[in-house]
Amino acid sequence: MDLNFTPEEQAFRQQIRGWVAENLPKDISHKVHNALRLSKDDLQRWAKILGKQGWHGWAWPTQFGGPGWNAIQRHLFEEECALAGAPRVVPFGPVMVAPVIMAFGSPEQQKRHLPGIMSGDVWWSQGYSEPGSGSDLASVKCRAERRGDYYVVNGQKTWTTLGQYGDWIFCLVRTSTEGKPQTGISFLLIDMKSPGITVRPIITMDGEHEVNEVWFDNVEVPADNLVGEENKGWTYAKYLLAHERTNIADVNRSKRELERLKRIAKAEKVYDDVRFRDEIAKLEVDIVALEMMVLRVLSGEKSGKQSLDVAGLLKIRGSEIQQRLTELLMLAAGPFSVPFIHDAMEAGWQGDHVGAAYCAPLAATYFNVRKTTIYGGSNEVQRNIVAQTVLG
Ligand SMILES: Cc1cc2nc3c(=O)[nH]c(=O)nc-3n(C[C@H](O)[C@H](O)[C@H](O)COP(=O)(O)OP(=O)(O)OC[C@H]3O[C@@H](n4cnc5c(N)ncnc54)[C@H](O)[C@@H]3O)c2cc1C
Repeated sequence: MDLNFTPEEQAFRQQIRGWVAENLPKDISHKVHNALRLSKDDLQRWAKILGKQGWHGWAWPTQFGGPGWNAIQRHLFEEECALAGAPRVVPFGPVMVAPVIMAFGSPEQQKRHLPGIMSGDVWWSQGYSEPGSGSDLASVKCRAERRGDYYVVNGQKTWTTLGQYGDWIFCLVRTSTEGKPQTGISFLLIDMKSPGITVRPIITMDGEHEVNEVWFDNVEVPADNLVGEENKGWTYAKYLLAHERTNIADVNRSKRELERLKRIAKAEKVYDDVRFRDEIAKLEVDIVALEMMVLRVLSGEKSGKQSLDVAGLLKIRGSEIQQRLTELLMLAAGPFSVPFIHDAMEAGWQGDHVGAAYCAPLAATYFNVRKTTIYGGSNEVQRNIVAQTVLG
């Protein structure tokens, strides 16, 4: 196993670095570097810039209009974007539903949906979870009944991230109650402008509107929007979740945040405290260890070894590190990090605050990042999966 990058890979990194430096808008990277609120326009502006270059679907094969990069190139691209302060690409379209459409969708579905995802024009949401069906996802109840050329959908999805912006939503729906719960689920693509859909905000403890409830009341969905076969949705759902969990590890973003932590610790003078430096060092070791794990996975993929069975491990460690970073950021700023000022998340905010400007968003970020050990499959459930599939 060789964890060093070849000269070609290093040249590729330089090429990406140059492109990102030229194309990433400064106002967006400023917000990312300072953990400020990103608007829909910020996220979509970056998505469209990537889309124009054919990189919004950076992991796509050339057959579907992607760059056809290998695992190492994809990693280098993600790292360069993260370190430069690019927003995390909203994954629901390019990272989640697109691979499912490529693998299991009809040629018509591929033709209809993939170009809008690649260009960044069409915003997708994920409709998996329901009240009572999160970890126990196979128990979904949102019902789709076939009536001629249509399915009629009734029920509710919840925790739908950024669903308030959604043009389309991919949903797990119940099409049968026969047999095991897993065998009666289908994978449906639903236009969110369809009559009968209501999106209601859930305000999270950071005061933000990031997640939603989505209600379906007799929503008519053309039967052509079924992906693959009826009642085979569980297979497609699992395929998608493996992609989601690898993405969540987000080691590159943690590397960037570690540098922010050091900057703030130095500015607040706690960097001089050897005990605090110990904590930073421990975290840095964890980040390097996670990065080595990611590189081992990539090296395995390069040599043709399938390694998605460690996706759960990456998710667990990645999410714990993200949370620890926000804890140390709060500790570094001490009492100044405590005031919770909603408006301070806005770029250019000039209101009263206590302490340096960088302190203002720390509490909100701390609260927001509690989600990482829950979403994409909670860490407790991931540990069960790792125990079964990796440890045996
Ligand atoms: C911020 C945020 C954004 C999200 N975005 C989306 C989205 O866009 N689309 C979407 O479909 N979903 C989304 N989710 C939902 C997410 O996938 C679920 O919250 C997650 O799967 C956990 O399900 P649950 O909330 O129903 O908790 P539950 O399943 O009710 O779990 C409650 C607690 O019990 C524990 N637990 C449950 N079962 C076991 C077990 N077998 N062994 C050990 N412990 C167990 C869990 O770890 C957890 O601590 C989001 C969630 C959050 C918090």
